[in-house]
Amino acid sequence: SLTIGIVGLPNVGKSTLFNALTKNDVLAANYPFATIEPNVGVVGVPDPRLAVLAGIFGSQRVLPATVDFVDIAGIVRGASEGEGLGNKFLANIRESDAICQVIRAFKDENVVHVDGKVSPKDDIETINTELILADLQSIEKAEPRLTKESRLQKEKVAVLAAVVEAKKILEAGDTLFSKGITKGTELGDLLHELHLLTTKPFLYVFNVDEDELTDDAFKAEQSALVAPAEAIFLNAKLEQDLSELDDEEALELLQSVGQDEPGLATLGRVGFATLGLQTYLTAGPKETRAWTIKQGATAPEAAGVIHTDFQRGFIKAEVISFADLVECGSVAEARAKGKARMEGKDYVMQDGDVVEFRFNV
Ligand code: GDP
Repeated sequence: SLTIGIVGLPNVGKSTLFNALTKNDVLAANYPFATIEPNVGVVGVPDPRLAVLAGIFGSQRVLPATVDFVDIAGIVRGASEGEGLGNKFLANIRESDAICQVIRAFKDENVVHVDGKVSPKDDIETINTELILADLQSIEKAEPRLTKESRLQKEKVAVLAAVVEAKKILEAGDTLFSKGITKGTELGDLLHELHLLTTKPFLYVFNVDEDELTDDAFKAEQSALVAPAEAIFLNAKLEQDLSELDDEEALELLQSVGQDEPGLATLGRVGFATLGLQTYLTAGPKETRAWTIKQGATAPEAAGVIHTDFQRGFIKAEVISFADLVECGSVAEARAKGKARMEGKDYVMQDGDVVEFRFNV
């Protein structure tokens, strides 16, 4: 499955946040025998539709979609100069599908900042610089080879041109993602073979003081620093406290700081979207479940997420939109009213589709 790597300068609250993440692990809650990797935190993607469906179908349990966060430890400054930890750090980022930077915005004088001052803007630049330098090194290594290859292989001409374009952007101090160059775009796909870091989607977590959680002017200012990436505002210590409380107590604590959902829930939702993922829903008396697919996946691809046999033997998908199902109150009623559609192998899954697959075994 796709993963999001958590990075950040030392002392910004990564471990605190990660502890909260692992305490909240939805895998541990739903699959008691699952193997849990020490550096992976699995967060549920909140979806209020699941409880509604579980009510309609009388489901025994509800399984939300999940996102995997990987704690990428290691010093960052100078990482691009290679050697030991730096190399490992970059290799771990290379394996992630998106990059989540934790940024310190909380003031606490008792917690030392590595650069002596709290400045989100500088911290973002410090991390970006390492990633940009690493990409420039990859490009410098690849360029002579691509120049040679492009004399004989026509398809390499476009790759070389893309590399030259990317180099310009990186040399100006920008990440490729910030210029819209990511997987799935023309330039992003041409650059794929270089395994660059800054074409990955970015996401920013501002670890803020509690009073800043409700400070809209402050949040707008910080969000502008990282656009087009998404910014999330949370207090890591509060998240750790929340992860130790039962639902009712957690809700009370959240309300006392003016929040309607935990920061981790927001992180799950935004992280999921940042990875370019989407869900479809299945429901029955045993369970209601959100299944993860890539945005734009077809019905057979969606079936394959449940079981490869479902994809191989795919016949049809019976699809009812969540809104129609809720309005009709049951599958039988939705069928009677003509709201259940039979979709074939070219159907592109839509958000909120409630699905039952028909397949040959
Ligand atoms: P890491 O080095 O990025 O993993 O940072 P840690 O999670 O170890 O946090 C560094 C220090 O900052 C610890 O003493 C934490 O208790 C403290 N800390 C983390 N988050 C917050 C926060 O939201 N507010 C305050 N005041 N301190 C925090």
